[in-house]
Amino acid sequence: MSEKPIYKRVLLKVSGEALMGNQGYGLDPQMVQQVADDVVAVARAGVQVSLVIGGGNIFRGISAAARGMDRAQGDYAGMLATVINALMMQNALEKAGLATRVMSAIAMSSICEPYIRRRAIRHMEKGRVVIFAAGTGNPFFTTDTAAALRAAEMECDALLKGTQVDGVYSADPRKDPGAARYDELTYMDVLSRDLAVMDASAISLARENKLPILVFNIHEAGNFADVLRGTGRFTRIVE
Ligand code: UDP
Repeated sequence: MSEKPIYKRVLLKVSGEALMGNQGYGLDPQMVQQVADDVVAVARAGVQVSLVIGGGNIFRGISAAARGMDRAQGDYAGMLATVINALMMQNALEKAGLATRVMSAIAMSSICEPYIRRRAIRHMEKGRVVIFAAGTGNPFFTTDTAAALRAAEMECDALLKGTQVDGVYSADPRKDPGAARYDELTYMDVLSRDLAVMDASAISLARENKLPILVFNIHEAGNFADVLRGTGRFTRIVE
C-alpha cells in the first residue's frame, strides 16, 4: 500500500460463500489465500485488522431448519462451521508471516482462545490479526450481526463487508443490467428499502454506534487496501 490508509482499526466481514470460489461447498484454497494476501498487505501498512468469517459455505442453521432440523441446534452447527473457516484463514495468514489469533464466542480451548474483549484489543494493538469465530455465540443471529457487534466492541473505525460485487445496487447487477450502484447510502436507506447488504440487526447496530460500513468486491485482489485508501469502488453506508 503506497498512500496512507484512512482508517486505524477495521473489521472485515467475509461470507463463507466468498471463500467457496466456484465450488458448490467448502473452501477454495486459492480464494482463501487471495483474501489472506489482501489482509497481509493492509496489516503491513499499519492498519489494525480483525476478521469475521461466515459459515454459509459449510452449514446454515436456517437451511437445516427448513429440512426439519431444530433451528437452534442447526445454528450451533453453523457457528462451528465458522470456526473451521477461521482456522483455514489463520493458517493462510500465518503462512504469509502474519501473527494471528482466533478467538471463539464458543469455548474451544484446545484450538483457539475464548473471546475476551480486552484481550482482543490488546492483540490488535500488538499488530496481530484477530479472527472472531463462532459468530455471536448465540443461535438466531448471523455472522453479519457478529461482525457489527465485534466492530463496535473493538471501537473499529469502519466495518468492511467483502461481497461478490463492488457495492450496493438498486437491484441484483448479475440479473438486472439496469441496476445502479450507490456511492453512498444512509443506514435508514438500507433498512427502509430493504437493500440486501447485511441483515437489519447488523445495520441497526452499526447505526447506533455510528460505524461506517464499506461494501466492496472481495474477489478483486488489492481491493481491500484500495477501499481503505478511499480509492477503490465501493458503497459507503453512514448516518
Ligand atoms: N450463526 C448463529 N449465530 C451467530 C452467527 C452465526 O447461529 O451469531 C449460525 C447460523 O446458523 C448461520 C451460520 O452460523 O446460518 C453461518 O453463518 P452465516 O449464515 O452468517 O454465514 P455467511 O452467510 O456469512 O457465510
